[in-house]
Amino acid sequence: AISSPDPESDQELAFEGALRPKSLDEFVGQTKVRGQLELLLKAAAMQNRAPDHILLAGPPGLGKTTLAIIVALESGKPLRMSSGPAIQHAGDLAAVLSSLVPGEVLFIDEIHRMARSAEEMLYLAMEDFRIDIMVGKGAGATSIPLELAPFTLVGATTRAGLLPNPLRDRFGFTAHLEFYDEPELERVLARAADLLGLELSGDSRAEIARRSRGTPRIANRLLRRVRDYELVHGGGASVAAVQAALELYDVDPLGLDRLDRAVMHAVLMRFDGGPVGLNTLAVSVGEEAETIESVVEPFLVRIGLLTRTPRGRVASREAWKHFGLRPPAASGA
Ligand code: ATP
Repeated sequence: AISSPDPESDQELAFEGALRPKSLDEFVGQTKVRGQLELLLKAAAMQNRAPDHILLAGPPGLGKTTLAIIVALESGKPLRMSSGPAIQHAGDLAAVLSSLVPGEVLFIDEIHRMARSAEEMLYLAMEDFRIDIMVGKGAGATSIPLELAPFTLVGATTRAGLLPNPLRDRFGFTAHLEFYDEPELERVLARAADLLGLELSGDSRAEIARRSRGTPRIANRLLRRVRDYELVHGGGASVAAVQAALELYDVDPLGLDRLDRAVMHAVLMRFDGGPVGLNTLAVSVGEEAETIESVVEPFLVRIGLLTRTPRGRVASREAWKHFGLRPPAASGA
C-alpha cells in the first residue's frame, strides 16, 4: 500500500488535522490548482448546483485530503470520507451513495484501488446521479434504478494514469499537485510554528524546508521533532538545534527518506548507475512498481538524482556525489 513509511501516532494525526488550512486562501502554494478550484466552486455556487467532480493527483502528503475538506467547507456542504481499499464490493459503494444528502462532497482517497465492480456503478452515479441495484439471482435477477442526490465526487490518486479511462473522463477537472518549493514550505512551517507557539527564525525555517522532500506533511513532521528537541534541550530552535534534531532522526540533507535511499542505493550499487527497468528496480527494493513510479521517482527526478530514459532509470552524476561514491568512468546521465 502507498503510505508514509513512518507510522504516525494518533496524537500526531490529530495534530496534522489541527494544522490543516481551512480555506483556499489559507492553502499555501499550488497557485494554479487553487485558481482552478476557486473558479469551479464560484461558478457552481452562482448556479446553485453541486460543483463538477474533481480528481486530485499527486504524491502523498501534498494536500489532497486537505483540498477535499476545503471543497466541502467552501461550498458549505457536508463531507463524506471513504477510500478505494474500503470499497471492495459494489454494495459498499451503493450504501455510501444512496445515503448522500444533496450537494454532499464524497471524498474517495486512493480511488484507483476501488473494486472493478464498484467502478462501473460509479460511472453511472457520476454521470446521471443514478445507480442500478441488482436484486435476486440467476434468471429472476432484475435491476432497480435508484435516484441519488446530486453530489460532488472528489477522488484522490497518486497518479491520474492509474485510473481506467472511463473513470478519469468522468471528472470535470483533474488537478495535478506538484512538490512545493522551499519558500512555500517555509510558509507552511511559519504557519505551523505559530500554531505550535514555537519561535523559529528564518534560517531555521529554511533549514527544515530544505529537508522536507517538497512535502508539507513532512515539513510539519520535522517541525514537531524540532519542537521536541527544543522542549528537552531548551535554548530555542536555532539552526544548530534544527540540525542536531534532524540528524538524530537520520533526515538526509536533501530530505530523502528510507525508500528514496534504498532505490538510489540499488540503482548505484547493484545496477552500476543504470539503466535499470522499473520492475527490476522494484523487486530489488521489495516494493510495488506502482509505488516506485508514482511516489518515489517523481521526487528523485525533480531533484536531479535520477533520470528516466527509454532504456530505464539512470543515476545522475549528482547522485554518485551525494552518496559519496565515484562514478564509473563512462557513466553520468
Ligand atoms: P495523502 O494522499 O497521503 O493522504 P494528502 O496529499 O492528502 O496525503 P494532506 O493529508 O492533505 O495530504 O496533507 C498533509 C498535511 O500537510 C496536512 O496536515 C496539512 O496541514 C499539511 N498541508 C498540506 N498541504 C498544505 C498547504 N498547501 N498549506 C499548508 N499546509 C498543508
